[in-house]
Amino acid sequence: MTPIVEVRDLHFSYGNHDAVRGVSLTIEAGQVYALLGTNGAGKTTTLELIQGFRRPREGAVRVLGVDPAAEPRTIRARTGAMLQEAGFFPELSVRSTLALWADLSSRRDRVDDVLERVGLTHKRDTKVQSLSGGERRRLDLAATIWGGPDLIVLDEPTTGLDPASRQTLWTLVRQLRDGGTTVLLTTHQLEEAESLADRVAIMHHGVIAVAGTLDEVLASQPARVSFDIEPSVGLSWLAPVLPGVAVDQDVVRRPHGSRLEVRVSGPEPVRDLRWVLDAADRAGVVLERLRANPASLEEVFHQVRLSAPAPSPAPTAREVSA
Ligand code: ATP
Repeated sequence: MTPIVEVRDLHFSYGNHDAVRGVSLTIEAGQVYALLGTNGAGKTTTLELIQGFRRPREGAVRVLGVDPAAEPRTIRARTGAMLQEAGFFPELSVRSTLALWADLSSRRDRVDDVLERVGLTHKRDTKVQSLSGGERRRLDLAATIWGGPDLIVLDEPTTGLDPASRQTLWTLVRQLRDGGTTVLLTTHQLEEAESLADRVAIMHHGVIAVAGTLDEVLASQPARVSFDIEPSVGLSWLAPVLPGVAVDQDVVRRPHGSRLEVRVSGPEPVRDLRWVLDAADRAGVVLERLRANPASLEEVFHQVRLSAPAPSPAPTAREVSA
């Protein structure tokens, strides 16, 4: 099946500033794809290129099988976009705003149904200027999902939303996905990506530093086995340390006295856990609070930020898996 979005080696510059430097990504039908990244990483620019609002300096974009910059009408008819700032008339009511939207859109839908889906029925007669930030965001979303587009693009959709409104939006995104809609979103909230996304990409300085399913992205950093032991035990029983494994330790206070907290980081958590258990067994060491965890998305994000690529020459995007 043709991917809904296919981007190959995309480059874009504002003057002499290279904002996007070799981005490649593929989004299949019915996926939620989350683009994360540091401030100024190039996420919004990438979204604009994908929607055909800008033309790449180099590289190719196909959305719904066509070049969005060459066929904007085709793309508009099948894509709903929620940008960071939507321009609605402040004097119009919520209902009139959507009715106006209905006139402008080539897609058909019912105003009351859409208001119901985004939880704005009770505000249907309120003027846009009197809506709270979260309510405005819901109105943005109503316009975005109007008429059931094949692809929706959400630029930081939950910025400024309270936890309840955020949950509403997440539920709606899941419903859209379950109905076959493809969703591309940017976010600064790692929890949002963890909760919603089928695939995650982290951008930094104009490139995708790491991408894949959430598990693949988490596996790009060492997993961790951690445990507490009596400080007097020391670590000699763990020798020899396995190749590729790092062991570090801290003295920590616990309710029943000080303990040595030991962290074993390595690429193969199952192997590392087995090694720790076997060594402890042989030495008769008691392990307290034993845990094995993959790296968190926050740790991966932090690592990406630390490993800033040189601005020149432009590196290419790296996908964890195709
Ligand atoms: P944020 O997370 O802060 O919203 P972003 O990842 O969406 O950032 P972009 O908005 O795509 O990043 O910006 C990428 C880079 O391009 C930034 O360095 C930004 O300052 C620059 N930039 C963006 N828009 C313009 C513009 N219209 N003119 C010049 N430079 C721009």
